[in-house]
This record gives sequence, C-alpha cells and structure tokens, in this order.
Amino acid sequence: MSDCIFCKIVDKKLPSTPVAENQHAIAFRDLHPGAPTHILVVPRKHVVNLNDAREEDAAELGHLLLLARDVAKAEGLAEKGYRIAINNGAGVGQSVFHLHLHVLGGRAMSWPPG
Ligand code: AMP
Repeated sequence: MSDCIFCKIVDKKLPSTPVAENQHAIAFRDLHPGAPTHILVVPRKHVVNLNDAREEDAAELGHLLLLARDVAKAEGLAEKGYRIAINNGAGVGQSVFHLHLHVLGGRAMSWPPG
C-alpha cells in the first residue's frame, strides 16, 4: 500500500526505532509511547486489521504473537507482565490501518482498559 506509513516503515522508506524483525514481521518503538515500554509488532504483509484477516493468514498471525513474546522477553517484561493490544477500527482508537500489536509494559495497568 503506497500511502501506508507502516508499509513504508517495513520497506525502510520511513525511519523507525527497530527492536526486532524476522521474515514475518518487524517490531519498533511507538513514536508516542503510552507506557515505559511500548513497541509495535507489524506484519510485513499489509492487512488492515483483524476484520481483514483470512484463514490463510493464520500462521502469520501466530508469528506476530511469537515475535511480541520475544520482544517482551528481551525488554525484561516476561516476569513482570505485559499487555498485548490490537485496535480494530477507528471507533476503538485504530489510527494506522495496517494491523499491529501493541506490546505495553513497565507500569501497572488497570483492567478493563479505559
Ligand atoms: P493504533 O492507534 O492502534 O492504530 O496505533 C498506531 C500507533 O502507531 C500509535 O500508538 C502511534 O503513536 C504509532 N505511530 C504512528 N506513526 C508512527 C511512526 N512513524 N513510528 C512509530 N510509531 C508510530
């Protein structure tokens, strides 16, 4: 998608602060962190959000979770705890329409989120 900022970050046409990457996805720090650790895990393939995901994406979706886990571990969050969030739709705060996992940690968090 030529006008998608996360596609541009995936293609390294826009800068980011990367923390990890593999053949399936990249992980980089959120520009406006909502927690001491706030990392985005973004699939290389452009998928708008979960509504856009298909059965054939099942393995790719699983790889996102595994990379999020590895990132959280590398950030020292495995024992303390961390939250994985996906905003699906503008009504719940999705602002970039390329699927991404938020990995949030480093502070106490209430549940349910506000
Ligand atoms: P969402 O609101 O769930 O779509 O999340 C999009 C996230 O992307 C927000 O937390 C933004 O702060 C973050 N963001 C937007 N542009 C960039 C960028 N160029 N680099 C890093 N994070 C970004």
